[in-house]
Amino acid sequence: MNAPIRSYCRFGLAWALISAGFVGCSTTTKPEKKPGVVEPKFTGLVIEQGPGSLGAEPRKEPVTCLVLHHTAGSLPSSLEILQGKDPKHKVGIHYVVTDEPKPRVIRMVPESMAAYHAGKSAWGKLNGLNQHSIGIEIINYDGNVYPYSDAQVAIIFALCDEIIRRHGIKPWNVLAHSDIAVGRKVDPGLKFPWAKLASLGIGAWPLPDEVADNLSKKPNLSPAHVRALLIAYGYLLEPGDVGLKLGVEAFQRHFRTSKVDGVIDAGTVAILESLVRRYQPKAYRETRFKP
Ligand SMILES: [Zn+2]
Repeated sequence: MNAPIRSYCRFGLAWALISAGFVGCSTTTKPEKKPGVVEPKFTGLVIEQGPGSLGAEPRKEPVTCLVLHHTAGSLPSSLEILQGKDPKHKVGIHYVVTDEPKPRVIRMVPESMAAYHAGKSAWGKLNGLNQHSIGIEIINYDGNVYPYSDAQVAIIFALCDEIIRRHGIKPWNVLAHSDIAVGRKVDPGLKFPWAKLASLGIGAWPLPDEVADNLSKKPNLSPAHVRALLIAYGYLLEPGDVGLKLGVEAFQRHFRTSKVDGVIDAGTVAILESLVRRYQPKAYRETRFKP
């Protein structure tokens, strides 16, 4: 057993105490074998092979991002749509997390394929995130309204943790669909437990002391400065005030869920500054010398 798996099991055991949905640290998945492709070796998770999907293509780029979604539909309808049989709506996804009392993880597209889950999308220097990412759809009618159950959160954690470790995905590249399709998508929504997952090592989060310090120094609220920070962090913004407002709103939906209105304020900028400083230090230094 290597170090990442040991570490994972430690978290897994803690989560098992608080969630009936977690299945412990046994290895039960037997991924299908394909020549030349290293299929995932999941530990502590049962991955069910679901129906396949036509919404996928061969992967040409390395996996550097993980993208989370809510389905906005029931499990049966989502599994139907995600098979990508509709030529006008050819979609696909690697994994589906169900909303049952004991949630399951269902695999539809192997990770060696790029699934059609991101649509028109961009993050940092990347365009078209399908080729660069693994996608997870979570059954929830609207993650901006309905909370994710503790059992779902536990299994989302286990799944993300394994994927992130195996591909070496950086914290700032663990993304909401709304982060990479600004103004077009709002999932997995403001109820998604980003802070909780970040406390367990999944994804990016600002340092609270640094946010408080930024607030005490009265952050620079100029639109040009906020635009530069959002772009430095990874967001693709359309020009003009509307583009900026949508970018601020997308950022708030992930990192400041108490206020998701697209309006620049000190709290939002304090969080944004902290994230850019922590995860994009070179870009952060450059923003210091701009208005
Ligand atoms: Zn989505």
